[in-house]
Amino acid sequence: IAPDYIRAIAPYIPGKPVSELAREFGLAEESIVKLASNENPLGLPPKARTALEAAVGELARYPDGNAFDLKSAIAAKFGLAQNQLVLGNGSNDVLELAARTFLAPGTSAVFSEYAFAVYPLAVQAVGATPIEVKARDYGHDLDAMLAAIRPDTRIVFIANPNNPTGTLAKPGALLEFLEAVPESVLVVLDEAYTEFLPRELASDSFGWLKRFPNLLVSRTFSKAYGLAGLRVGFAAAHPDVAELMNRVRQPFNVNSLAQAAACGALADDEFLAESVRVNSEGMKQITDALERLGLPYIPSYGNFVTFHVGDAKALNLHFLKNGVIVRPLASYNMPNSLRVSIGLPEENARFIEVLEAVLG
Ligand code: PMP
Repeated sequence: IAPDYIRAIAPYIPGKPVSELAREFGLAEESIVKLASNENPLGLPPKARTALEAAVGELARYPDGNAFDLKSAIAAKFGLAQNQLVLGNGSNDVLELAARTFLAPGTSAVFSEYAFAVYPLAVQAVGATPIEVKARDYGHDLDAMLAAIRPDTRIVFIANPNNPTGTLAKPGALLEFLEAVPESVLVVLDEAYTEFLPRELASDSFGWLKRFPNLLVSRTFSKAYGLAGLRVGFAAAHPDVAELMNRVRQPFNVNSLAQAAACGALADDEFLAESVRVNSEGMKQITDALERLGLPYIPSYGNFVTFHVGDAKALNLHFLKNGVIVRPLASYNMPNSLRVSIGLPEENARFIEVLEAVLG
């Protein structure tokens, strides 16, 4: 009874959980290093932990459906108004809400080849037409994406930096793109990894909202803020856009623990700075090793790096047997590549050790 457009959806394949690998290969869970889902290797921000402990006492109550405290904290931190905000159960929820609000059968949405896998899923789930545009050097070809916009197009998705390729569209190029996109098309700018960017490469995307009523900026607490398991993200957009999305949103889509922890994380500047520092050192540790071993990789602006190998399936199996979980990219149509998330120095060293053993 499901419509054809639902049957056409290819399932999202998440990173293998530690417990599953332990069972499959008879490994001790503590010995496994998971570098598969671009999580924060430092764990919870200390201020989020404190906030969580305080919030446990209120769990018999429903969450605040309007998330007043968290919206206030986000608005204050980023110079936004509360009526510009939509909170999501992870930013995946925000992306899906945008699709459910602005797409329908008979409309289309544009995204790039090798872009984040949730875009085609969200588009197909509402029966709209996905338009995939060929990538340029693994990144978004903004000119081609502009040219791909049709009269029935309602959304263009841009991941910046992109996952899984780690590529970046520079602020100047993005601004030109926004200036050229028709106002009838919502540009969903997914900035899940923006905290890892050096200041000069980060777009003034929240500032741009004043100029572009058809811009939506999506952010997450899952990466640099270390709250992936709690599922919390948000969108900032024109109040009219936010208001429509909030009509579609489930009233309690962000639970109380997630709201409390996100407030704590936003206040924890020290943790955020440490996350960025650990990531940039780990990125160097891993890319130095890839270079030494002669493995080509896509220079990355995120907390992960994609590298090319001959037989990614065999190498992935080798990693798994040795208790290291990385991400195969066959479902992204990159069957000869693997993506590794940046971990703690000792986790990165384990990854490098296994790679050296197999290549040596
Ligand atoms: N956008 C991009 C580009 C991502 O890589 C991810 C996480 N893999 C997300 C959005 C969604 O993250 P979350 O739902 O945890 O906020």
